[in-house]
Amino acid sequence: TDLNSAALSHLPPQLSWAGYDRDHLTPGVVHLSVGNFHRAHQAWYLNQVLAQPGHEGWAICGVGLMDTPAERFKARAFPEQDGLYTLSRFSPNGAATHEVIGAMTEYLYAPEQMEAVLERMAAPTTRIVSLTITEGGYNHAPGTGNYNLEAPVTQQELADPAHPLSAFGFIVEALRRRQAAGTPPFTVLSCDNLRHNGRVARDAVLTHARALDPALADWIASTTTFPNGMVDRITPGVPPEEVARLDAMTGIDDKLPVIAEDFGQWVIEDRFCNGRPSLEEVGVQMVGDVHPYELAKVRMLNASHSMLAYPGLLAGLETVSEALQQPEIRALLEQFLDRDVIPTLQAPAGMDLETYKQVLLARFANPTVGDQLSRITGDGGSKLPTFLGPTVAHALHRGTDTRRLAFGIACFARYLLGIDDKGRHFTPFEPQLSEEQIALTREADLSAVLRMSMFHDFGLGTGDHDFIEQVVAFRLDLRKRGAMAVLHDLVASE
Ligand code: NAD
Repeated sequence: TDLNSAALSHLPPQLSWAGYDRDHLTPGVVHLSVGNFHRAHQAWYLNQVLAQPGHEGWAICGVGLMDTPAERFKARAFPEQDGLYTLSRFSPNGAATHEVIGAMTEYLYAPEQMEAVLERMAAPTTRIVSLTITEGGYNHAPGTGNYNLEAPVTQQELADPAHPLSAFGFIVEALRRRQAAGTPPFTVLSCDNLRHNGRVARDAVLTHARALDPALADWIASTTTFPNGMVDRITPGVPPEEVARLDAMTGIDDKLPVIAEDFGQWVIEDRFCNGRPSLEEVGVQMVGDVHPYELAKVRMLNASHSMLAYPGLLAGLETVSEALQQPEIRALLEQFLDRDVIPTLQAPAGMDLETYKQVLLARFANPTVGDQLSRITGDGGSKLPTFLGPTVAHALHRGTDTRRLAFGIACFARYLLGIDDKGRHFTPFEPQLSEEQIALTREADLSAVLRMSMFHDFGLGTGDHDFIEQVVAFRLDLRKRGAMAVLHDLVASE
């Protein structure tokens, strides 16, 4: 059976459905870039919200922004499935639950339906615009945290603001229409893995708006809110060849199934300028300050992901759980978290960092999730400055052991060369790194890699010779002996 509205009345028994009436819902949320993570996280929470009385105005209108084959596929498949899809969640002990998520009642594809997207975003019924546009979508000038007004797409949008292309082009034009119509603004809710993601989104929107019209920027600054949020649920990509296997499990023909772990966490700063659904009723933590949660998550979970993924990929492994089965990698993560990260953090209220560490290692070891190392290694150029940069800066500042961090960076540099320890070639996915930047990893001077602009925020000063020497030594050793042999000695030397 194909998955669509008609199928909801006779779903296979293993597939649950919250059962609310989708015909009377209105999208109160427009979500830009409907990736797997959004579908497993925010849409899963809203799916439960919609099952509660009085929440008919909080369905999702999904928007595809990018002109890519994957997005064109979604643009056809989501409407065919009436916005429905299946989510399978797995616990570390292998138990699975399968459910239909019905929160997305409309899907629009910006490259073909630009005006419909703007109308939906400008509609008074739209009260939140949320984003999972990846770290790279925030359009920072390389090596800086600043919104890049010089980017070709941004230049094109500033010259012709009525025809937006990027997330921020759409948000600013929609807010302009709302101001002109006397409609209150929407809350802009970033759900990407960035530190201060709300602040980063605010900076992008205001910089873009100010370049067009300072009065519009002032109106946005004084009326629109951009809550910071911490998001967490490991959601691997679903390669096309996996779809049939997932469909066999759920018992329905879904062209876009999603899988994820059963763990989920969402902590949001409670600042919504135009109302919000009762997220706290479905397990979302609404708080005054997200910052300590965010730091703990990004520096512990996301950084551990990067620390394991580069050596794992070089060693020829494919998934996170495979990597965790290597005693050297597990030891690296434990030492990294205990010595390099936890001492630099303050535990948020109600959160014990030692427990958090244990839980995250158990989550990583979950074999049923099968999270791809290649998903985690990709876009290191945007990720590492956020995930690892502050920890390196702390260690250099405190004068503590930097060997594990130097090893992580050396593995990243080797990964950029696109060849693993068995001599197999692969293409690193690094949309934020130019060819000139990547070329620094190929210079005879092995320390040249640290001149890449992505390392600007790592606090590497001229006095950090020891650290630079460590990176160089690890690069030489990695070349000679491969990641696992080097790592074996590193973790044993503790
Ligand atoms: P995905 O590949 O399934 O989806 C990414 C989406 O972003 C796609 O729709 C893509 O077209 C779009 N996109 C790519 N570049 C863009 C750009 N420059 N502007 C606008 N849209 C762009 O990936 P995903 O797993 O859904 O992850 C998306 C983001 O969610 C991550 O980058 C991260 O910030 C956050 N996140 C993911 C996870 C996870 O486990 N997957 C966990 C926490 C947070």
